[in-house]
Order: sequence, then C-alpha cells, then structure tokens
Amino acid sequence: MIVARSIPEFRKARASLGDLAFVPTMGALHAGHLSLVDVGRRHATQSAVSIFVNPTQFGPHEDFHKYPRPIEADLAMCESAGVDLVFLPGVEDLYPPNEPAIRIEFPSLFSVLDGPRRPGHFAGVCQVVAKLFNIVQPQFACFGEKDFQQLAILSALVRSLDFPLTIVPCPTLRDPDGLAMSSRNRYLSAPQRARGLSISRALFSAQNLVAQGERSAEVLVRTMRQILLEGDPAIPIDLQYAAVVNAVTLQSIDAIATESRALIAMKVGETRLIDNIALIPPASR
Ligand code: AMP
Repeated sequence: MIVARSIPEFRKARASLGDLAFVPTMGALHAGHLSLVDVGRRHATQSAVSIFVNPTQFGPHEDFHKYPRPIEADLAMCESAGVDLVFLPGVEDLYPPNEPAIRIEFPSLFSVLDGPRRPGHFAGVCQVVAKLFNIVQPQFACFGEKDFQQLAILSALVRSLDFPLTIVPCPTLRDPDGLAMSSRNRYLSAPQRARGLSISRALFSAQNLVAQGERSAEVLVRTMRQILLEGDPAIPIDLQYAAVVNAVTLQSIDAIATESRALIAMKVGETRLIDNIALIPPASR
C-alpha cells in the first residue's frame, strides 16, 4: 500500500495504477467505510482512499477541531482491506493560502434537510470532492447512502460538471442493534446510544408501513416523530427533521412514489445523528 502525503506524490503514484475506485473519507474509519472499498473493488481493479478532515465543510461551532484523527489505526485498516493507495494531504496541500474563494452551489438541493441546519456544509463538500476528483482521477467514486443528501448532491455535481467518472451508491452498514455506523458514534454514552436507536426504529417502521401499502407521507412522518419523541426524558434530544422526500430532487412529497426516501436528523446530547431509508411501495418491488 502506498501512502501519498502531497498532491505531487499522489499524482506520481496514481500514474502507475490502472482503473481506480475511489473512497473519499474523513478518517476514523469503521466497517462502513471499508464496505465502500469492497464495493469499489467490484467495479475497478485498484482502490484509493483519501483521509482528510475537510475544514470547509464544518461550521464555526461544529466539531472540526475535536473530530477524531486516529491516523495509524486508519492506515492499518486500509492496509488490511487491501487498499492500493491512500491520499493523506494536509490542509495547506488542498487549500494553499491566498487562493481566491470559490463556491459550488445547488440551490434546490442545498435549501432542504441538512442544508439550512449546516450553512456552508454542502458547498464545502462539493469544493473538496471536486478537487479530489481532479487529483485522484478515478473511474468510480463510492459514497455511502448513509449520507443520502450528500450522495444526491455529488451525483448532481458529476452530472452537471461532466466529471468523467461513475458514482457508486453503497448501502448503509449498521451495528447489530440497528444504529447506522458513524465516526461520531464514539461520542455517545451508553444511554445516549440507546436513545439514538429510536432513529433506525422509526425508519424501519416507516419502511414497513410502506411495504404494507401506506402511501401517505403525512402518516409516515407522524409515525416516525412519535417513535423519535418517546424515550428517556433524562437524555436531551433535538429532533431536527423527520422527512419523506423524492430521492432525486430531495423535495418533500405528499404520497409515496417509486423513488422515495425517509430521512431523520436528531441531536442526542451534543452529537448530531443522521440516517435514512428507501421507501419502496409494494407495486414496485
Ligand atoms: P465520512 O468519513 O463520514 O466523510 O464518510 C466517508 C464515506 O463513508 C461517505 O461516503 C459516507 O457516506 C460513507 N459512510 C459513512 N458511514 C457509513 C455507513 N455506516 N455505511 C456505509 N457508508 C458509510
């Protein structure tokens, strides 16, 4: 496994590789990240992972400085997953001082769900991913459905700017209790984690209702909110949204159609958790 710590080093190493599946990450790797590497390997002969905690996608009061950075453990996980090339740039490699500001924006996709709650977040994601695509030059780029709005936005980015690569959506990996794996789960105490499980419970309930024929988004949202709001009142939560949307436009819908998705964001203590699930009506199974 080659570890490249600058853009020139990466470009040199990349030149010796063929078809590449790329998995961009912020590190603190878990089995969910490695599942993306596995999916990538079905598409391309070689794989690259980037590990970069991207400052432009964090708000001023978010956890950029305390975001976990267990680099040695991450590299060991990449090695054991059979990754060919790791890109480990520093902030000044990707953001040299004194460059003019740049902003990529998809107003209709940024104005919903996490967009208004994390101002600047998706612009920062688009900026860093566009740069990484140009540096890494992959044939395939793997992104988790766990971050569904991000996946929809990056799919739009590739389409709109004609990046010569294919986005590969990858299913969400969950712990056995149902909690979607996330680098931020390590912030949760045991009671907070138990409270956070209401998120996957609510999503699975919505999915089951749709499988049984329910089509009303209002009914689904009400059911999810009920499940999310019951629980130990000693654990503070902030339910930010429970929504049912079109999976491509991300706009709210009234009735379930073929491409529908339920999404939830909830803070448990100081930790913000997000998760989502496909809603598949019986006729389209
Ligand atoms: P992050 O390091 O949080 O930026 O995530 C890097 C990539 O891993 C993104 O494409 C995420 O959607 C994906 N990812 C994170 N958690 C999971 C999970 N539990 N299952 C599948 N993919 C995930």
